[in-house]
This record gives sequence, structure tokens and C-alpha cells, in this order.
Amino acid sequence: MISQLSDLIWPPRSLLSETIVDRPGVIEPQLWGELRFLSQPLCACCGFPLPDHAAEGDRCAACAADAPAYDSACAALAYDDHARKLILDLKRGGRRDGLPVFARWMAAAGAERLDRADFLAPAPMHWTRLAVRSFNQAAWLTQALARASGKPWKPAALVRVKRRRSQAGLSASERRRNVGGAIKASGRFKGKTVVVVDDVFTTGATLEACARALRKAGAAEVHAVTLARVVRPADILI
Ligand SMILES: [Zn+2]
Repeated sequence: MISQLSDLIWPPRSLLSETIVDRPGVIEPQLWGELRFLSQPLCACCGFPLPDHAAEGDRCAACAADAPAYDSACAALAYDDHARKLILDLKRGGRRDGLPVFARWMAAAGAERLDRADFLAPAPMHWTRLAVRSFNQAAWLTQALARASGKPWKPAALVRVKRRRSQAGLSASERRRNVGGAIKASGRFKGKTVVVVDDVFTTGATLEACARALRKAGAAEVHAVTLARVVRPADILI
């Protein structure tokens, strides 16, 4: 009854607009059709979209030149204006009603990796940032994805040991330098297959640091699943 009452006072809004919808975590059909779900062909390593003629297992030029520390990364959505709104509402607004639906998209995008995973781990946030914001959106996504995939998750498998400046506005190489050595694994994960979960894959610098830390701790495979992925260099400045 309380939820019915609160629906009257604060009716559920679409995840993408002010439109009133019949239940939380819903997107109206017109905007649903505009979401850009990523599909093959994608780089086998970092999940970057490849030209139509690419074969399975192909890598993008960047991964072919310099293989990342993680085995593979994939994302549900291309990072565009709609994905940006979903992520900012989650990250800055603390809006949680989209989590079950985001988790379903991520579970579908990362199905193969999730099947093999021993556990999921959120990309970590430094405690001082956590103290200001009071939540880590990557942990929320991991918890929801654990529920959707039936896999366990370890909230503190990765910790941020140094607070670095925000990644926003940094180039790819600046991001790698900014995040290098800032993330550590807490515990030994010998022979484990770990799926790291984050909201958005921008340059991959954070996941690179997570993968290095997990490998140091003995992990056999490190994969990443994110809600969205930057597919145009211009979108890195977020
Ligand atoms: Zn790649």
C-alpha cells in the first residue's frame, strides 16, 4: 500500500525522460528504439566496434599494437546522449530504479564471460570519494549483475589505495598515468576468473589497472563488463 501511495505522490518516471510510466525502471517505446546496443563485430579484446567485414576474433588497431592487461571487455550500450543520461542519473543522482534492467542488458552482453566467472568485482572508488558520494555506482551495478547472472560478487576484491584526480577531461595516456598503481587487490585469487564491473569504459585505463592488480593477486583471467562504452574519441572528455 505504501508503494501504491508513493506512486500517486511520486509516479515513476521513464529512465530517459520526464514521461510518467507504469512501473519503475521503464523506458517509453520511442526512446527505447533510440538506445544503441552494441553488437558484433566488436574487437575481441576491448569491445570497440569493428567494420562489418571483420571476422570473429579480430582486434582493433590499438589492441593489435598493444594488448591490454585484461583478457576482454564488453559493454551493453554505446556511450551516447541516452547512455550518458542513464549513467549520470545513476552516478550523480543516485537513481537506482534502472539497475535491474541495466543488469539484464549487461548479462546479455557479457553472457560468455559471466558463465566462466568465479566472481564479479566492482571497479573501486577511493574511500574519500565514497565518503562524499556515499555510494559506488560500480558496486550497485555489480550487485545487480550478480543477481541477474547468479554469480557471487566480492565488494572489496579491489581497493583504490591512492586518491587520484578525477579522470574527467584527461586523455588516454594521462588516464593511464593517473590510475597506474592506484588500485590493489585485497586477497589472493589464484587461478580465478574475475569479471570487473564498471559503469562506463572510456579509455580502459581503470580496467587496465584493475586487471594488473588482479593478475598480481594470481587471477588467471580478467574480463570486464560495463553498462556503456565510448565509441567516439570526442566522448572521452567526460
Ligand atoms: Zn580493441
